[in-house]
Amino acid sequence: MANILVVGAAGFIGSHMVKMLLSLGHEVVSFDNLSSGHRDAVLGGRFVLGDLADHLSLDKLFDESHFDGVMQFASSIQVGESVRDPSKYYRNNLVNTLNLLDAMVRHDVRHLVFSSSAAVFGEPCAIPINESHPLCPLTPYGQSKLMVERILADYDHAYGLKSVSLRYFNAAGADPDGLLGERHDPETHLIPLALRAALGHIDRLTIFGNDYATPDGTCIRDYVHVEDLCHAHRNALEYLFSGAASDAFNLGNGQGFSVQEVLKTVEEVTARRVPANLGSRRSGDPARLVADSDKAKTLLHWSPKHADLRTIISHAWQWEMRSLAI
Ligand code: UDP
Repeated sequence: MANILVVGAAGFIGSHMVKMLLSLGHEVVSFDNLSSGHRDAVLGGRFVLGDLADHLSLDKLFDESHFDGVMQFASSIQVGESVRDPSKYYRNNLVNTLNLLDAMVRHDVRHLVFSSSAAVFGEPCAIPINESHPLCPLTPYGQSKLMVERILADYDHAYGLKSVSLRYFNAAGADPDGLLGERHDPETHLIPLALRAALGHIDRLTIFGNDYATPDGTCIRDYVHVEDLCHAHRNALEYLFSGAASDAFNLGNGQGFSVQEVLKTVEEVTARRVPANLGSRRSGDPARLVADSDKAKTLLHWSPKHADLRTIISHAWQWEMRSLAI
């Protein structure tokens, strides 16, 4: 049993992580400023309301408990917004993470799992994307993630802080028990928006471009279940506890689905129509992002349990239906 600090615990992936760690018997302290997360999504353990920008509250947090490891999920996540407002992204994703790293070093906490992103790659020059693919982010969001990855390499060298960066492709799905799911405000992700369009909560979904170099012209993404991402975090922390070197891993299912294919699967799962219209391309969207996750499978012993798109969408649908009833 370990004592684990989960930062950004009230968000989509963080809240699923807390639930999993508690079910495995770990001690968990959840830290979140609730700027976009939800207090009621943290299903147990101790909750600390605090902000990574506040050095004093960070020192207090680390003075009160000794943590064996930290998972850092707190981040602004809207790629388009990052282009319009880079300051917010460099402050929240870079400066605030640096504050966390410095607090860890001051308090001799040496194991970190960091939420990175496929956005570190930019426009791919080869598919599927493995870890030796060039790193050329197209947006401040992707830049902020890559900058943290680079800082982590320096912090390992200088201070012995060991880290694993996990580059998620498209995080999706929801807790199979139906207790948690995506609650972004505003929601910008394809699957929850398609489900809301199917429910009539939004009038229609806009397809961002159908003139990409893909078979049906819409963008192809690799959707990965949130619970599988959490398993990868758990394995990554165990990997670090075993004395492994700092590293970065790509996390996806290795299978890409176009926007049109996702909408078709949403219609099959929900047995409803998804009203959609065609809009222009969204800036910063590569045509195709598909992960090669062999490295995570080999070194982290990661094996996704919910790789099927239909299962991912079914769990998200179960969550949207439940949210309706709340
Ligand atoms: N997308 C879309 N309409 C929407 C939201 C997303 O066509 O309302 C497309 C988007 O351009 C991308 C894919 O769906 O190709 C997945 O987008 P999402 O925002 O879910 O994740 P991202 O790829 O940005 O991480």
